[in-house]
Amino acid sequence: MGHAALSISSTGAAEEAQQNLLPLKSSSSSSEIFPAKSETEQQRDVDMQWRARFSFAFGVAATIVACIALAFAFFSHRYGNQTIPSFDSDSDSVVGRWGFARPLKSLNKPAVILISTDGFRYGYHWKVPLPNINRLRFNGTEAVPGMIPVYPSLTFPNHYSIATGLYPAWHGIISNVFTDPTSEEKFHPGIIDQKWWLGEPIWESVVRNGLIAATFFWPGSDVSKGLWNCSLPYCRHYNQSVPFEDRVDTVLAYFDLPEEQRPSLITLYFEEPDHTGHQVGADDPHISEAITRIDQMVGRLIDGLDAKNVFDDVSIILLSDHGMVGTCDKKIIYLEDFEPWISIPRDWADELSPVLGLRPPSDVDVKEVYQNITEALNSGKVANSEFLQVYLKEDLPARLHYSKSERIQPIIGMVAEGYKVEMKRSSAKECGGAHGYDNEFLSMHPIFIAHGPQFGSGRQIPSFTNIEVYNLIASILNIEGAANNGTFSLANTALLPSR
Ligand code: AMP
Ligand code: ZN
Ligand code: ZN
Repeated sequence: MGHAALSISSTGAAEEAQQNLLPLKSSSSSSEIFPAKSETEQQRDVDMQWRARFSFAFGVAATIVACIALAFAFFSHRYGNQTIPSFDSDSDSVVGRWGFARPLKSLNKPAVILISTDGFRYGYHWKVPLPNINRLRFNGTEAVPGMIPVYPSLTFPNHYSIATGLYPAWHGIISNVFTDPTSEEKFHPGIIDQKWWLGEPIWESVVRNGLIAATFFWPGSDVSKGLWNCSLPYCRHYNQSVPFEDRVDTVLAYFDLPEEQRPSLITLYFEEPDHTGHQVGADDPHISEAITRIDQMVGRLIDGLDAKNVFDDVSIILLSDHGMVGTCDKKIIYLEDFEPWISIPRDWADELSPVLGLRPPSDVDVKEVYQNITEALNSGKVANSEFLQVYLKEDLPARLHYSKSERIQPIIGMVAEGYKVEMKRSSAKECGGAHGYDNEFLSMHPIFIAHGPQFGSGRQIPSFTNIEVYNLIASILNIEGAANNGTFSLANTALLPSR
């Protein structure tokens, strides 16, 4: 019955099509068959010819435009510059464009290698060929333009935000160096007493979920806390003299262990290109050398994983904590210029630059200090005063999330990109690099590149704040994470659905 109905309707359609085509087919001999045409008819014919020509021209133009669009889509896909899908793009379009997650081939459960290359500013990859990092970029997913660090864009607050999904005011490591106002003790890099380190870092979450985590350095990873105990063979205490090659080889060796001893999460940390960036600034040939060295380490890791036949199964997240910007000694705000409005002793400044963090003693009125600083800055007598913005911490822009901790100093000064604060003038005239500035500056954005079975190939996603990385890793490993300041927008957008 259904078949008959189909054949009737298709026959009808064929007949109709044939009828429409007949006059056109016979048009060459139309004068012999049909009587002569009137003027109006001739005019109509001319009109129709023009219409036909116009339609033809329009068709050709549309075809050319379509070809250009197709070529553009092909090449932008090939080179990873395709239109950036927004975070709220629905999963259907993600599937359509990026396909499904690849099933694991050699491993029985997911594994994540989280690599931090300190101070790797977004855009360094344009300076010099980086074949190994580009292999991850072109076959993986990259944040463009980079990832957004938390404020202040310093090493310790950012590494610990990546590890916990918390803003510094929540995880407690509000800077590289600061004073606890209650105990009056000082924090600085190297302090591993757990009382400073709040929140649950991802290595602790992994262990809490019954899996194994390993860390080859990460700020906070050598703090024994909860179920996490920093000891061999899965954790070692920070020692910057360990050669980069040894760090990579140790990570690779974990994949030779029997499955029940193999870590699900491994962190790997390199001090470069931050170290070089501080010495020479962001735009110097030495930076190219430093990033080439990191590229070689990435190559060593990829080749090692390839040789063990697990490269396709491992999720590699290559990121950094912040960017870097050049500084030079003519871009300085001197606190000595604030006199006679106010004299600021050095020990009020918990931090000086690029974050000016002032904590006057308890018998000094903070609001009065702030007023006096504001008057000094508005006086026209302080050199470069327009490049320093001072706030009571509760008045800082909400986007910085930098007020809800006793450890944050009551008065915060933010300097313009590339500027520094110093106590007084000296004869030193140096140029170098710094970070710690407003996290909105593009120069402070670090890289984020992710490669693995759940990441689209040659895909670009919009920038996101690094507090999203915790939930991303928890999702890849399929573990229950701890409460944090992040959302699941990165995990939902960047991770491809399983079939
Ligand atoms: P920054 O002053 O913000 O540039 O900090 C970068 C420095 O932090 C690096 O040069 C490292 O020497 C140091 N660093 C990195 N990780 C650790 C760690 N886990 N423990 C102590 N210091 C570290
Ligand atoms: Zn750093
Ligand atoms: Zn640094």
